[in-house]
Amino acid sequence: MKHTRLVRLAALLFLTAALHASYAAEPANVTADEALARLKAGNERFVTGKLIHPNVGTDRRAEVAKGQNPFAIIVGCSDSRVGPEVVFDQGLGDIFVIRTAGNVVDDVALGSIEYAADHFGVPVILVLGHTRCGAVSAAVAGGQAPGHVASVVEKIKPAVDETKGKPGDAVDNAVRANVRHVVNQLRNATPILSALVKSGKLRVVGACYDLDTARVDLLE
Ligand SMILES: [Zn+2]
Repeated sequence: MKHTRLVRLAALLFLTAALHASYAAEPANVTADEALARLKAGNERFVTGKLIHPNVGTDRRAEVAKGQNPFAIIVGCSDSRVGPEVVFDQGLGDIFVIRTAGNVVDDVALGSIEYAADHFGVPVILVLGHTRCGAVSAAVAGGQAPGHVASVVEKIKPAVDETKGKPGDAVDNAVRANVRHVVNQLRNATPILSALVKSGKLRVVGACYDLDTARVDLLE
């Protein structure tokens, strides 16, 4: 009898813990504004060197082993200096990340983004370019890029053409134009993303990371 009570108590405690864990894992009803505020706060911690490394402990690991519910999708550059989990001080299960050189999006990348937007109901996609991007610099330099690097450069070329001759730094201008192009590409990507954007369930924003200040600025 005593044993049964103990088992019941243990089961109850386990259930309470499990409910608590699943509640903690749910960023349900996180709005795009809240998600962006969370990214902004994390970047501020990175800029000021006050990292808290959230959600990387054994508890979080066990929690996300049961499922994920990321609060943002980041489409960033593969550049080794711009890791989204690092520059936004986020942990396991927080952000769904797609990275390609020059943060360009092909069908495979788009499929990954659509999966996260549709499956997890993520409220915001942040396209993250950065200063002195090597892929964008290659596109600005022109000429024939070797091998499949040409596929990356080809995707960035419209941004280079659009900003050619404009005042300011050619690479910086092209970085920002390229981010805007990818933002527009995602907003209009049928059938999944465009429908989510139209219904107000998904926001797509562009941003630029400054290698010198470590700050991420949203592009208007
Ligand atoms: Zn880059």
